[in-house]
Amino acid sequence: MLRTDGHEGYVAGRYRNGTYSDSWTDVARCAEQTFTAYAPACKCGWRGPAQGATDVGYAACQRALLRDHLKPLDVGRPILGKIDRTIRVADFLP
Ligand SMILES: [Zn+2]
Repeated sequence: MLRTDGHEGYVAGRYRNGTYSDSWTDVARCAEQTFTAYAPACKCGWRGPAQGATDVGYAACQRALLRDHLKPLDVGRPILGKIDRTIRVADFLP
């Protein structure tokens, strides 16, 4: 699981009827042929493009999850989170 504030990413598997598995399902441990595709997904409801239901597709999902969903959300947050008041011009003067 890849976790940031309020988001919990996972790799979802697409069943033969077109529905996707939930975050509790470890798709890598399911029997072969269980899924027709893998897709990066997040508990917030986000889901990325489907990949092949293979080890390569699984790794691609993990990368896409980080790159397309979790990372963009985190831009700037580590810096802004440390400042608990309004930034003033004086803050940048020696
Ligand atoms: Zn999310």
